[in-house]
Amino acid sequence: MNKRIWLSPPDITGLELKYINDAFASNWIAPVGPNINTFETDIETYIGKPSNVVALNSGTAAIHLALDLLGIGKGDEILCQSKTFIASVNPVIYKGAIPIFIDSEELTWNMCPDLLEKAIQNRIEVTEKKPKAIIVVDLYGMPYQVDKIHNIANHYGIPIIEDSAEAFGSRYNDKYCGTFGEFSIFSFNGNKIITTSGGGALITRSKQQKERAIFLATQANDTTRDYNHSTIGYNYRMSNILAGIGRGQIRSITTKIEKRRANFDFYYQHLHGIPQIQFQPENDNNYSNRWLTCITLNSKKNRDRIIQLLNDDNIETKLSWKPMHMQPVFKDHISFTNGISEDIYKKSLCLPSGSSLTQEDLIRIVSIIKTYFTDNDAN
Ligand SMILES: *Cc1c(COP(=O)(O)O)cnc(C)c1O
Repeated sequence: MNKRIWLSPPDITGLELKYINDAFASNWIAPVGPNINTFETDIETYIGKPSNVVALNSGTAAIHLALDLLGIGKGDEILCQSKTFIASVNPVIYKGAIPIFIDSEELTWNMCPDLLEKAIQNRIEVTEKKPKAIIVVDLYGMPYQVDKIHNIANHYGIPIIEDSAEAFGSRYNDKYCGTFGEFSIFSFNGNKIITTSGGGALITRSKQQKERAIFLATQANDTTRDYNHSTIGYNYRMSNILAGIGRGQIRSITTKIEKRRANFDFYYQHLHGIPQIQFQPENDNNYSNRWLTCITLNSKKNRDRIIQLLNDDNIETKLSWKPMHMQPVFKDHISFTNGISEDIYKKSLCLPSGSSLTQEDLIRIVSIIKTYFTDNDAN
């Protein structure tokens, strides 16, 4: 059997162990300690202002806290990008709020600005209230249309939660993703571009909000001396050990992005001549970390066949995220659709994209796809 090629495995440099050892040596084996503060500062320095970073135990927790800080509650309507991983939306349900789904546009595959505006106007007309927030995503690392989406949000006075879970290091007009939303989030889950094995971060625009977020993430203890609670909190802080992994990982973020972009370039160079294959576009405003290279085929049949052929050669691929408006669990929810995310879902697949992929791996993958399309039965 050929060597297994994974979709997006962790890429460990060795530095991580030093910071983990520091944590053990100083006995900071807790959700408090120097690695956490340093990791937060590392992120703040990297993405620049305005950012106040709170390290948490997942990206999902970060979205939950953002909703909390915005005062989202039962029955509030939240406009959510439909084409995303379900973690973008689950915290809305935790809050008893109501997600309403917005389809994608073709330029970035993210939230369609026209449909967003249509949805806002519709909800105001029907409910006589504005939706309480917008959750927009940088799919596979590709920034959404920041200016257009924010202009609409600002016009109606609706705050944006920027789900940059997949877009650490991506930029829009030379500014980093994670700096645009009223609140923004990253994920450091095992498959993301940098990982803490499991973890995430909330980015706030002020020191006060950061302090409030830390307070809520550590069970909302009114003072450190007594156990007095006047509000409900969570156990969402990142541990000092895992923050050590993050400190090691972030040191090589630049090479990790270069490698992922080089993977994309390799696939593009070898496959873009095949008329049945298209790539997620990157327009002039955008610099994507190319977390995952996702291609669309001209038909579901060709897509399924390629998955099968790669799988037969021990190569992992994944379908792209199934849109939320197609999910059984959200079947009764309102959505504003145009068919784009459904079409992408039915015809696309994510190719292996890890920063530790070798040239040999890439050649193996591309050869299988090319051979299929030079065969007679592909069309
Ligand atoms: C990974 C991911 C999340 C959630 O992050 P976790 O750290 O796994 O909780 C949220 N949104 C998107 C788009 C993601 O890809």
